[in-house]
Amino acid sequence: MSGKNVTDVVLADAEGVARAAQILESGGLVALPTETVYGLAARADSAEAVAKIYWAKGRPDFNPLIVHVRDLAQAEEIAVIDDRARNLAERFWPGPLTLILPLREGARIAGAVTAGLPRIALRQPAHRVMQAVLAQTGFPVAAPSANRSEEISPTRADHVTVSLGERCPLVLDGGASQKGLESTIVALRGAGAGAEDGGWSLLRPGPVTKETLERILGPETPNVDAGIEAPGQMARHYSPGKPMRLSVGGAAEGEFFIGFGEVAGDCNLSPSGDLNEAAARLYDCLHRAAASDKSAIAVAPIPYGEVGRAINDRLHRAAAPLD
Ligand code: AMP
Ligand code: MG
Repeated sequence: MSGKNVTDVVLADAEGVARAAQILESGGLVALPTETVYGLAARADSAEAVAKIYWAKGRPDFNPLIVHVRDLAQAEEIAVIDDRARNLAERFWPGPLTLILPLREGARIAGAVTAGLPRIALRQPAHRVMQAVLAQTGFPVAAPSANRSEEISPTRADHVTVSLGERCPLVLDGGASQKGLESTIVALRGAGAGAEDGGWSLLRPGPVTKETLERILGPETPNVDAGIEAPGQMARHYSPGKPMRLSVGGAAEGEFFIGFGEVAGDCNLSPSGDLNEAAARLYDCLHRAAASDKSAIAVAPIPYGEVGRAINDRLHRAAAPLD
């Protein structure tokens, strides 16, 4: 680029999309809006490009990346899609559901994307900007959240620049992410022997709820060997870098208080008690809490139903003890 070590934040219009596609083409990094959170994108078929994602995020190399595809046909070129997977893809794509699927032999995917695993995480995003970029590139795009590893995920362009700085040369600004939480991740196990028992596991709760998935797939049957199935689901993640207390009725001295419903606060996730709105606002409130002059954070109780499960999952990881 210019060599000036600056990040360009540009509008996600046709010109911005074309510039992003060109940078990806040449093996560079771009931060893009998606409906879940902002993603740090690189072409998934290039080892050099994918290495830049791990470098920019400071991400451990055992933590594999989600690959974003243009459509189901592109997913078929990369992974083996059985009837259950096809059913889920047809129902929820484009949208915030990631499927863990067997990697197809000979697929043009850099080994670091799957951290060397025989399975790959795929999703077709619903955001028009990410879709426009995928439509202009012939290759699928690996894109974890556009933040330093363990930090709070970005739901706005300025969150990206605060966390990644000049490590990401271009950010497309497409406004606030509508869902505000990372995609739901489902692992479908093959029908066979041993661990391939035909069951399924929810590896990460998200906007597509467990209740919705159980209506389609039947009860979840977690794999006994979940540690291997879900690499990178670290206890500490999404961290604001300050001590946090959860499910409390009010702030103690020196705490930034994140409210919900009638429990007011310095920032309220949803004054009307709407869990979808709370999900969309969660990371912005955490970013504000992190940037405030308060030394600690407290959060009001959030119900566990529907997307509340995913909100509480993220809050518990955000509150995991600091080193
Ligand atoms: P992130 O990119 O931070 O949203 O996280 C993506 C998550 O997807 C990782 O933490 C992994 O747990 C999960 N994941 C990605 N690829 C795979 C895979 N091949 N097998 C199992 N889990 C995966
Ligand atoms: Mg992340």
